[in-house]
Amino acid sequence: MDDPVERLKDGFHKFKTEVYDKKPELFEPLKAGQAPKYVVFACSDSRVCPSVTLGLQPGEAFTVRNIAAMVPAYDKTKYTGIGSAIEYAVCALKVEVLVVIGHSCCGGIRALLSLQDGAPDNFHFVENWVKIGFPAKIKVKKDHASVPFDDQCSILEKEAVNLSLENLKTYPFVKEGLANGTLKLVGGHYNFVSGEFLTWEPPHNAVERLKTGFEQFKADVYDKKPELVHGVRLLRLPRVPVGDPGPAPRRGLCRPQHRQHGAALRQDQVRRRRLRHRVRRLRPQGGGHRGHRPQPLRRDQGAPLPRGRRARQVPLRGGMGQGRRPGEVQGAGRPRLGAFRRPMLHPGEGGRQRVP
Ligand SMILES: [Zn+2]
Repeated sequence: MDDPVERLKDGFHKFKTEVYDKKPELFEPLKAGQAPKYVVFACSDSRVCPSVTLGLQPGEAFTVRNIAAMVPAYDKTKYTGIGSAIEYAVCALKVEVLVVIGHSCCGGIRALLSLQDGAPDNFHFVENWVKIGFPAKIKVKKDHASVPFDDQCSILEKEAVNLSLENLKTYPFVKEGLANGTLKLVGGHYNFVSGEFLTWEPPHNAVERLKTGFEQFKADVYDKKPELVHGVRLLRLPRVPVGDPGPAPRRGLCRPQHRQHGAALRQDQVRRRRLRHRVRRLRPQGGGHRGHRPQPLRRDQGAPLPRGRRARQVPLRGGMGQGRRPGEVQGAGRPRLGAFRRPMLHPGEGGRQRVP
């Protein structure tokens, strides 16, 4: 069959008679609309059609294919073809899984790894496009500098997928879906030489979940309920395990492990002291925590006399307790107190007295 158009017509005829007409249950619902579960980013390479290699049926995967299955970071001024496909799939079709699939012997990845600084481009678009994967290339060159070029290509095929997964997180609707748990990111690699297909989920999902969880906690609780947060007894820290130094040395001797043990304990003490200091500074001024109870009035501040037949009155803190030097004359209206003499006692001014 040499005629390319006839080839296409024959191909459709075969599909119509063998698949379309025989599976109405598959195609009838699609007439009303589509509700794919996946977005698949795959290379345009003719050997890696995901519908064929992954057995995806019509209506099952929204597919984006380009050189090296690259997903650029969010940018409203560039790559709008990719951005619009992601946006439509996530926001309108409500897909659940975003899969980026690299593959073996990828020419785009090879072109990316072959790029030389300052060298003229061989193509109008290809070099510029594959430069999206430049951070992945830098990583591979750095981490696997001694590896042969072909092996570096194989590693870069997967690293470029990881970069695309990271770039996907820069789209606000994807980020939101990941935070809500309505979206999932999956990396994949199809090796058509060995006939293998790998998948992995980026570990960053878990980290991202923790980050967004903390942001939500900070907005909903930490910032709105300081009395709750600052009341927590943050000071009760577990001590740092410093290990068992073994049997105590004889008097006068100190083994290295005991010196290390002592140093670790001192370091732990310093750390705890600093943290206590930080927590004190964090506490809100004017109450809101257990340590800020209103202090009882002193006698010279107008506190009522204690009740009872022989109540003992709290002595005034005047002579030595407030930084006055012995013999210093008090201000007008204050009791004059000598250094080491018993102060002159008047009702309500301090000292010991009988209560009628
Ligand atoms: Zn490719």
